[in-house]
Amino acid sequence: MPLFAKLRKWAFKRSLWVFHLNTGSCNGCDIEILDLFTPRYDVERFGIKMVGSPRHADVLVVTGPITKKSLPRVLRVYEQMPDPKYVVVVGTCGSTGGLFQGSYNTMGSVDKVLPVDAYVIGCPAKPEAIIDAFTKLMEKIERGRK
Ligand code: SF4
Repeated sequence: MPLFAKLRKWAFKRSLWVFHLNTGSCNGCDIEILDLFTPRYDVERFGIKMVGSPRHADVLVVTGPITKKSLPRVLRVYEQMPDPKYVVVVGTCGSTGGLFQGSYNTMGSVDKVLPVDAYVIGCPAKPEAIIDAFTKLMEKIERGRK
């Protein structure tokens, strides 16, 4: 691999910009995501940064199951992200449908509509588990998957 490509991959892995989308979560997992940016967990030291637009994001972090109402927005947000892009699902609801499974207004897990790269199980998912998922995603990027 040429040196520039190697350098680009190294830099990309260490500067993941994240857009967070709640597709129907109860807000429990969203609060755990906020914890990541407090001094206690401080994920910015790993280069992980929250951005306000999907157009600037490398990673889409989804909380909650996909609801019928959120589906068009989810697809629109994903389409707006530049390639290469990754999806991390936080919480049991987004990973499996969770307690909203079989509900009349939900479609179920996020992987029914988007290609998911990492799942974080838990209700709510713990900040340590979310950091672990990002570590695994960084390893996946380094191995050149996608
Ligand atoms: S996994 Fe639990 S905390 Fe997270 S959105 Fe579902 S019900 Fe809420």
